[in-house]
Amino acid sequence: MAKVESFTLDHTKVKAPYVRLITVEKGQKGDEISNYDLRLVQPNVNAIPTAGLHTIEHLLAGLLRDRLDGVIDCSPFGCRTGFHLITWGRHSTTEVAKALKSSLEEIAYHTEWKDVQGTTIESCGNYRDHSLFSAKEWSKKILSEGISDDPFKRNVVD
Ligand SMILES: [Zn+2]
Repeated sequence: MAKVESFTLDHTKVKAPYVRLITVEKGQKGDEISNYDLRLVQPNVNAIPTAGLHTIEHLLAGLLRDRLDGVIDCSPFGCRTGFHLITWGRHSTTEVAKALKSSLEEIAYHTEWKDVQGTTIESCGNYRDHSLFSAKEWSKKILSEGISDDPFKRNVVD
């Protein structure tokens, strides 16, 4: 079976919350796509409950696109400790960490339920499983710890 970089990371060595560049993939015509690990909580210590994670997902979909060029997708890890972010081109982990921080500040302190996109039976695959309360409380916790642009040492962005 193909070896996947994400599974070679020693999850006991990282210090969340952080942003890590996983890979830059190059297409046949030279286009580049970057894959980032947005780790919001410490692996095997915490996990964001599904309803809060689901609402954070719906909000980051819009908020990160407003703050970062070339966003293709941002989807939660099955372990519920963070998200994959896929973008066109390259961004520094500092730039991504700042965009993530600003997005979580928006969720924690400004977002209202009417701002959450895709919460109807037509627009979501599990519309009953959302919690803006949980999304806000977890965002506050992550912000209180700060977001590092390095997965192994704490280098929290402003
Ligand atoms: Zn959904």
